[in-house]
Amino acid sequence: MATERYDVVVVGAGAAGGWAARELCERGLSVLLLEAGPQLDPQRDFPVPAAPERRLVSRLAGGLRGQPIQMRCAAFNGRTRRFFVSDRESPYTTPADRPFNWFRGRQVGGRLHVWARVAPRLSDRELEQWPLSYADLAPWYDRVEGFLGVDDMPMNPAEEQFRAAVERAFPERRVLRARVVRHDRERQPATIRAAERTGRLTLRPNTVVHTVALDSRTGKAAGVSYVDRESRKAGEAHGRVVVLCASTIETLRILLNSGFGNSAGQLGRGLMDHVLTGLGGPLTETASQPDHSADPYDFGLATGFQVPPSEDAAWGFQGAIGRGVPVWYFLAHGEMLARPENRVTLSARTTDAWGVPVAHVSCQPSPGEVAMAAEQLETMRGLAATAGLEVRTPPSGRRLDALAFRLWRRRLLSPHGAFLPGTAAHEVGGAPLGSDARTSVLNPFGQCWDAENVFVTDGAAFPAGCWQNVTLTIMALTARAADYIAGELAAGRL
Ligand SMILES: Cc1cc2nc3c(=O)[nH]c(=O)nc-3n(C[C@H](O)[C@H](O)[C@H](O)COP(=O)(O)OP(=O)(O)OC[C@H]3O[C@@H](n4cnc5c(N)ncnc54)[C@H](O)[C@@H]3O)c2cc1C
Repeated sequence: MATERYDVVVVGAGAAGGWAARELCERGLSVLLLEAGPQLDPQRDFPVPAAPERRLVSRLAGGLRGQPIQMRCAAFNGRTRRFFVSDRESPYTTPADRPFNWFRGRQVGGRLHVWARVAPRLSDRELEQWPLSYADLAPWYDRVEGFLGVDDMPMNPAEEQFRAAVERAFPERRVLRARVVRHDRERQPATIRAAERTGRLTLRPNTVVHTVALDSRTGKAAGVSYVDRESRKAGEAHGRVVVLCASTIETLRILLNSGFGNSAGQLGRGLMDHVLTGLGGPLTETASQPDHSADPYDFGLATGFQVPPSEDAAWGFQGAIGRGVPVWYFLAHGEMLARPENRVTLSARTTDAWGVPVAHVSCQPSPGEVAMAAEQLETMRGLAATAGLEVRTPPSGRRLDALAFRLWRRRLLSPHGAFLPGTAAHEVGGAPLGSDARTSVLNPFGQCWDAENVFVTDGAAFPAGCWQNVTLTIMALTARAADYIAGELAAGRL
């Protein structure tokens, strides 16, 4: 059994874990970064020319080859399926009447290998129920954006026309260029590369963490227990601090499995995604041609604009018109409320390929969220009509696409027309930040009230929802927590 001791053990090498590793290493700390999946190989896993997308065939094959949930993700295709988890190896359960789509990537880099890079900030309006304000987060947004680079996506002529038509008809509406993180052609996240350059990072892929081991004498974590993905051998890793960045539901699963964090009765409760609806249709021609010099593994070129909420709404939408293909689409993201009955628990019967109890996810929209979905669709239809855009499902109009849509409709859409919860892949909540240990799981820096050297900095820490895409905020929260951890360690308080 391994017994090395590090300053900090970080679990999960995705968007959050990369930031934790970079910030902690750059502050002089030794970091062990444990990742359940493999390290990707730039040649083998990112072949050029890239495999064709062949969406329909890939989905059928994915369904048959152990990815029946992952293949429902809009980004799943012949090129990307290797970046999605095997549902067979890593299952989860739901109540029969509450389907939930959970789209995951298990490899160094996590879901950064498929994300669309759209990166808006939250504002004080969304942070109202948080124990921190925009002023607390702003320097950390600056830091993340300064390192990764954030640009406004140029709109093509059809998108400019859409903007003009909407803003003429509804002067209070704003159609903004989408705010996107700059694409990085390297296959290892920039944060992890930066951490490696310090010489203080130990990255250990293929390490499936299942428990944070609490020392009953001190009430502090001694480290984590894991199973090696390939050899199935058990191991332990020790650190002065443990930071959980395994992605919202995985982090909750690890905490639930560890048996602490629930003194307030809140652990696992308040799971959220977005109230998600979509609309699309055909165009007679493309407005901007595909850029053939673009990286075939960049999936961030598909969003042209974002429309923030109108004053009285808690939802906005993003979209594109004729980007390389003669179709347009809008995708609305609405704020879900953190309701206690939407929760993650552990399955009593099902375990994953490594013998660890899987997450049981029970999440359902409220009547208010159903009404929000209807409002999203009605408003987007109105705006499409204003701009002369024809609505058609599926947008391509191809017979095979129409057949597939009819077959898969129930796995994607609720009867009321919204996508099933989880489909936005913006799942957050379940270990809320708060300023009172009696009502939250974490303090405002992501420090667990029940174990002071355990931190959660991924989406699980969100105490409330938002309409914005969540990853930029996850990164900023992580950078802020890392700075706090370094300060507390230096002061001898951890
Ligand atoms: C198709 C798609 C497009 C998206 N586009 C956007 C977008 O445009 N904008 C946006 O803001 N968000 C987007 N997202 C969401 C975004 O990817 C996530 O919010 C973000 O990746 C979350 O970061 P994370 O570090 O918490 O999780 P991840 O990036 O998923 O990383 C978690 C890591 O932890 C590892 N892990 C899990 N369990 C364990 C364990 N037990 N032991 C060890 N390691 C473990 C995983 O293997 C993974 O590498 C998109 C998601 C998808 C699927």
